[in-house]
Amino acid sequence: MKTLKFQELGLLPEILRAVEEMGFEEATPIQTQAIGVIKEGKDVLGQSQTGTGKTAAFGIPCLENINPEDKNLQALILCPTRELAIQVSEELRKLSKYKNDIRVLPIYGGQPIDRQIMALKKSPQVVIGTPGRIMDHMKRHTLKLDKLKMIILDEADEMLDMGFREDIEIILQKTPENRQTILFSATMPKGILELTKNYQKNPVNIKVVRKELTVPNIDQAYFEVKEYNKLEALCRILDMYNPELSVIFCNTKKRVDELVEHLQGRGYFAEGLHGDLKQQQRDVVMKKFRNKTLEILVATDVAARGIDVENIDIVFNYDLPQDEEYYIHRIGRTGRAGRSGKAYTFVVGKEIYKLKDIMRYTKAKVERQKLPTATDIEELRIKNFVEKVKNSIAEGHLTKYINIVESMMVEDYTALDIASALMKMNLYKEEEEIIEFDDEPYEEKERKSKKQKFNKSSYKRDSNKEMVRIFLSIGKNDNVRTKDIVGALANETGIPGSEIGSIDIYNEFTFVDIPENQLRSVLKKTKNFKIRGNKVSVERAKKNRKR
Ligand code: ADP
Ligand code: MG
Repeated sequence: MKTLKFQELGLLPEILRAVEEMGFEEATPIQTQAIGVIKEGKDVLGQSQTGTGKTAAFGIPCLENINPEDKNLQALILCPTRELAIQVSEELRKLSKYKNDIRVLPIYGGQPIDRQIMALKKSPQVVIGTPGRIMDHMKRHTLKLDKLKMIILDEADEMLDMGFREDIEIILQKTPENRQTILFSATMPKGILELTKNYQKNPVNIKVVRKELTVPNIDQAYFEVKEYNKLEALCRILDMYNPELSVIFCNTKKRVDELVEHLQGRGYFAEGLHGDLKQQQRDVVMKKFRNKTLEILVATDVAARGIDVENIDIVFNYDLPQDEEYYIHRIGRTGRAGRSGKAYTFVVGKEIYKLKDIMRYTKAKVERQKLPTATDIEELRIKNFVEKVKNSIAEGHLTKYINIVESMMVEDYTALDIASALMKMNLYKEEEEIIEFDDEPYEEKERKSKKQKFNKSSYKRDSNKEMVRIFLSIGKNDNVRTKDIVGALANETGIPGSEIGSIDIYNEFTFVDIPENQLRSVLKKTKNFKIRGNKVSVERAKKNRKR
């Protein structure tokens, strides 16, 4: 669709000047469509994805319509979280920079109530807040809505998801009948439509269609990984691309905490963001991320929604998003405002089919990419090390060491020998083996295994060992991971980890392939088997189990 220049929107000169100063060149589609309509005083139901400039879409006309002479509260903006309230209020402050007769005040939980009461006494015309805290002030009569001209629900779907529906309705009911009601949302679930029906008057529907939403400047790729080597794969990609700022999405709070712990353990500057954190902790994390003392933000969808940080280089879907729309929300965090960004998605096994659904739905082109190999990593290490050596030479102060080298050369070693030995010692200090990832696409594997099923009832780990499946009465619901199972089996039965074949963990149980010749001994030794304190029964799997 055609977008307009801000100059074409008939804005107040003070607002236009602020917009120009903020570096906005032209209005985004949602802004182009919404600003004029809201200014006219009409109710609006606006839908567009994260990152499309909704804040200014309602913020500009809101500020334009405020009467600076009137010291009553004229506009109330409800946001789902404290971060968003702060973000919206910062954006409004910027927009109203040259209209200093308008007072904008954010009100949110976690801030001392006394201070808020004081600030409210200074009669702000625009208040931005979370529904809970707004209700709180209404009950204390420190916030009066009777002169309100306009109410805006930002990220309305999110507020409903967070259980604010009742609060929102109470707030709406306490506002004057003739108010203007603006509702912005990224999605339009039933609850939103009900709100619209009950509280808006002939709303103008503004929807920015999906096609315009996919951000073209994002380089999207996926990597096939195993659950147990996701972390290794992630670290390798981080090392290869060395992003300055990245956001990693996990599907649950627990996954966020675990990943943060692992990443920190490996020396990355990573911290988590999810709903269980106290507001103040979240603020600290976001601040660090904004000023780049924190490089990696690990987050859940809800915690990261709407959060706006510029210059994110890579967004990782460490877990494939459960919802197709989340994919768009997540990758929308990178590649803002014409910059290019990367979005990398991990898929485990069958998830590839779900990703293909996402691709169909979003019309996104997500290319399969191979994980960095051991050779890539080795080359990278060499490159980094050589760089370090060069820097050290450039820095100088080497006399002491030159003397050592010279003393060795007296013993007939050449400088080349000595340098090479030092290289070797430094590059392979840890004696660790870089694992080589399995590179075969899952679909390929599945085709092969289907073929194999016709002629074999047991599975092969390698060409000369017959494998059989065993059944373990423990699964995801007990929080076991592959490494717990391998560890416990190896401990209890003496079967080396390298001999254990594929492991499929389901919610309630797990299948493990082991060499057939170990079966009897394994069954015997696991009569009183425990994994992480849970009693586990082990038996041979029924033959016709689907893989
Ligand atoms: P949404 O609420 O739709 O998720 P935001 O209002 O948070 O989006 O805007 C996302 C980012 O884009 C912000 O950094 C904002 O300052 C910027 N932005 C908004 N409008 C424009 C515009 N017209 N041109 C360039 N950048 C813009
Ligand atoms: Mg927003």
